[in-house]
Amino acid sequence: MDTAYLSRPHEEQAGGAEPLVSVRNVSKRFGNGTLAVHDVNLNLGAGEFISLLGPSGCGKSTLLRMIAGLGSPSGGTIEWPTTGRDASGEPQRDLGFVFQDPTLMPWATALANVMMPLTLKGVRKAEARERAAAMLALVGLAGFEKSYPRELSGGMKMRVSIARGLVLRPKILLMDEPFAALDEITRHRLNDDLLELWWKEKFTAVFVTHSVFESVYLSKRIVVMAARPGRVMADLDVDAPYPRDELFRTSPEYAHLCRVISGKLKEAIGS
Ligand code: ADP
Repeated sequence: MDTAYLSRPHEEQAGGAEPLVSVRNVSKRFGNGTLAVHDVNLNLGAGEFISLLGPSGCGKSTLLRMIAGLGSPSGGTIEWPTTGRDASGEPQRDLGFVFQDPTLMPWATALANVMMPLTLKGVRKAEARERAAAMLALVGLAGFEKSYPRELSGGMKMRVSIARGLVLRPKILLMDEPFAALDEITRHRLNDDLLELWWKEKFTAVFVTHSVFESVYLSKRIVVMAARPGRVMADLDVDAPYPRDELFRTSPEYAHLCRVISGKLKEAIGS
């Protein structure tokens, strides 16, 4: 198998220069005994687009949630960029999170949903409104500020969710299979728009998916995981230039990359 332009030197997995997030020997064992994540070492660098790829149950979400501070490791450490301390003295992590479900407040408009993180931070209302409206425009929802979630399509709700994740302009945006429930055409469009947003806003994107095609289309780097216990099996660079578009999606280069990553995933699952 040709992997010439896909390998990442092993030392970079554990010790590249000045990572934004450092995951060191991290494990997670749940109360019921499940070892969901085992001894993961990962550095996430500024401006990367990284996919965590693997079959269901390999610990992708558990790892992502620990990076977000939603659940702590049972072994190892995670270091993040912070933006000061919150009211209880805890360090505030400079990151946004997008769940698989848009998790919008049904009683609030799109604008009010996106304003929420700003309001919680004590940003005054007029400024919060302005910043939330600008973010909605950036995700392609100008004119939908007053719409309620029930009035929006699945793709539009996910755009609101992404706007909410980015409204504090975090250094890192963590996404947990955000497009899994969408139809293919909407998913492709959101993939394109997410790449454009990432390119413009220059945040670090960490994207959980079990789709080889999606991971290759989006990522600069793919971390392949395997289950029982959940662990990192390969850490690969996707050396195809951005911007990526329909031409890339239908190119022999894309097909080749998908074949290589698919092979890596099979190897990981079989191990
Ligand atoms: P993935 O995101 O790759 O599908 P998860 O991180 O959701 O995988 O789950 C990894 C493993 O941990 C699975 O075996 C899952 O059943 C188990 N798991 C996840 N959350 C919990 C929990 N809260 N309590 C016990 N086991 C859990």
